[in-house]
Amino acid sequence: MGIHYKTKEEIELIRHSSLLVGKTLAEVAKLIKPGVNSLELDKIAEEFIRDNGGVPTFLGYNGFPGSLCVSVNDCVVHGIPNAKPLENGDVISVDCGVFKNGFNGDSAYTFQVGEVDRQVQQLLRVTQECLQKAVEACREGNRIGDIGNAVQTHAESHGYGVVRELVGHGLGAELHEKPEVPNYGKAGRGLKLREGLVLAIEPMINLGTKDIDQLNDGWSIVTLDGKPSAHFEHDVAIVDGKPEVLSTFEYIEEALKNK
Ligand code: MG
Ligand code: MG
Repeated sequence: MGIHYKTKEEIELIRHSSLLVGKTLAEVAKLIKPGVNSLELDKIAEEFIRDNGGVPTFLGYNGFPGSLCVSVNDCVVHGIPNAKPLENGDVISVDCGVFKNGFNGDSAYTFQVGEVDRQVQQLLRVTQECLQKAVEACREGNRIGDIGNAVQTHAESHGYGVVRELVGHGLGAELHEKPEVPNYGKAGRGLKLREGLVLAIEPMINLGTKDIDQLNDGWSIVTLDGKPSAHFEHDVAIVDGKPEVLSTFEYIEEALKNK
């Protein structure tokens, strides 16, 4: 199957699903604190998505048991919701997908639990900057390699490891469409970006080395050196040649401010 370039109408539907993801993550943000566990977060997210006419895309996806991927500390992505209470100083990456009106939204944010080490706070800040730089590279005429290069250059300038095995992706009627969007690469290489392309861009950046392992739960991806990792994800469309971010962290940031 080739790449599905989207019409403006389709992009509006993806935006609608992406915004519902952002609102769901804001509901999760309100609850995150020491003592809360990720099963509770997952339950709230699923209820909120269904109350708003959506379906949690991740639930049952290749057999995944949750509506959220919840990845704590050295877990990079794909953590399964569980009963272990969050602790002061943890970071938790929450990834959420919503299917509504025939289209998906997919966005992720790494939250701080209580007081977090300054070097980990910096990891979160730089990973979000990586995402921003990747978004800015989503312009007609640029190539997929320009996106990955933007992420890699910024992350490695801070000495961080850029995960290679997991990548961003095209987004639309399917959660994972072509093309793959690596977080590393050479500028000027790869598929040329053009009007109507919709991408989920999701840097996964490790405080230590880039190397990862998979736990024998069949899902959780963890850093090999046990150091923390961060993950931020936006859905981006190329509209009139320029990047348009369809998802948002505004609801999350509002919720965090009011905590
Ligand atoms: Mg995601
Ligand atoms: Mg994704």
